[in-house]
Amino acid sequence: MQRRDLLKLLVASAMAPTASGLLAAVPRFRDDPFALGVASGAPDHRSVVLWTRLVHAGLLEAPAIERAPMAVRWELAEDEHFRRGLRSGEATALPQFGHAVHVEVDGLAADRWYHYRFSAGDAVSITGRTRTLPAPEVLAPRLRFGIASCQHWNDGYYAAWRHLLAEQPDLVLFVGDYIYESASRKDAVRAHPLKVPYRLADYRLRYQLYRSDPHLQAMHAACPWLVTWDDHEVLNNYAGLQGGAKGPADPAAFASRRAAAYQAWYEHMPVRASVLLRGLDGLGRPDALRIYGRFDVGRLASFHLLDDRQYRDWQACRDPENGGDPVEPALCAEWADPRRTLLGDEQESWLHAGLRRDVQRGTRWTVIAQQTQFTPRDSKIGKGERYGTDNWNGYPAARERLIGSLLGSKPANPVFVGGDIHQNWVADVRARPDGPAIAAEFIGTSISSASGQAQARLDATVRENPHCHFASSEVRGYGLVELTPQRWTTTLRGLDDVSREDSGVRTLASFVVEDGKAGVQRA
Ligand code: FE
Ligand code: CA
Repeated sequence: MQRRDLLKLLVASAMAPTASGLLAAVPRFRDDPFALGVASGAPDHRSVVLWTRLVHAGLLEAPAIERAPMAVRWELAEDEHFRRGLRSGEATALPQFGHAVHVEVDGLAADRWYHYRFSAGDAVSITGRTRTLPAPEVLAPRLRFGIASCQHWNDGYYAAWRHLLAEQPDLVLFVGDYIYESASRKDAVRAHPLKVPYRLADYRLRYQLYRSDPHLQAMHAACPWLVTWDDHEVLNNYAGLQGGAKGPADPAAFASRRAAAYQAWYEHMPVRASVLLRGLDGLGRPDALRIYGRFDVGRLASFHLLDDRQYRDWQACRDPENGGDPVEPALCAEWADPRRTLLGDEQESWLHAGLRRDVQRGTRWTVIAQQTQFTPRDSKIGKGERYGTDNWNGYPAARERLIGSLLGSKPANPVFVGGDIHQNWVADVRARPDGPAIAAEFIGTSISSASGQAQARLDATVRENPHCHFASSEVRGYGLVELTPQRWTTTLRGLDDVSREDSGVRTLASFVVEDGKAGVQRA
């Protein structure tokens, strides 16, 4: 079967789950085929994606993949006993996509919780919980969501997911580094036996390892997620179709590695099947995924979920042996080149149009949800400047264009959410270094990944960057956002000890942004 036909079939299976036209096998399983759990995501006010993936053997062994498509039944209802408002259908799990299932259930009521489960043969999955978003015209009174990123398996346990689960959020916003592609360290808190992934089968095993964690599984089963990726889903500090010296030297080899990584990401994330086809159509390349998108929580909030990896230019003045090291602008002419892009032209235009759209529709909170730090971070203590090149700091012209767009279109309350740095970072976004705040930025540390920077060093950096209100490097955790029409509140939670699965959690600090008043205040 041609790849394009396969993609069409996959999308047909997601959109019209009972009518994919494939003769699917009714399987019998020795082991639990739903060992990776269930998930949901990409909700709007009347539909949501339900996800699972059938696995056929022990989690870390090479799976004896069945060659046949398999029939997977799904059920969704208003109650956990599947009595009220029951809907059901059959999806086809294709072996070419690792028997992953992405069902898009449509025609649901707005702003409502649902329960769902899958079955295949005589096996039944756990029951997941998901929800739709409020209707587009409604100024919803409240939304609670978690901000999370960076869950390096080697660096610790997922106690952060256990604690976020207990907060009962409506939504999880995951902003990248779902897996790490590096070899396992021997001295790791959690070591693993997997080799560095280059091919699809290797990336699948990496996701299977991460998804085997019970706390991560439970969080996926508890509410819908909005997800984007960063670099480690493919290769540290890759940029577009360039992988650097630590990846395969041959660009075609990196392209095929990236395609394998992207497919494995798709297979394990609760995203719409259209991300495959829109990637195909939009770029004309077979192995792109169009993962950026918009999600409206009524008029309370619009999430603009970005992809700043797939379309970016190579890092300025990058030594190919050492990706993304900081540069001093005075020593790197390329750094300020106005043609350099982080989002790519198409996504940049889409985002700028989206900001104008938010104004027209009366969105209260414009959430720019993406993977890397947006606000300046001068890391040279004292005279002179030095900036990391792997985030917006390395693409100043792209940042200027986005700030210009914010100033021009004036969405009511723009807030940036990011990840990547494994640190809490709470800052005002300013158009000029000494100007007033025009937006806020919240980065909610990492689920488990180590930061590698001592707090004392970070404190010195913060003194160089007066727009930063708070930064903390040594604590893992997440951010919890309570959103009302009047106020955005971010509470930063930190683990006592990431090396313990039973770690406690505490509040590090709490910040608010008031409607109509750009910039961050202490709660
Ligand atoms: Fe990370
Ligand atoms: Ca990186």
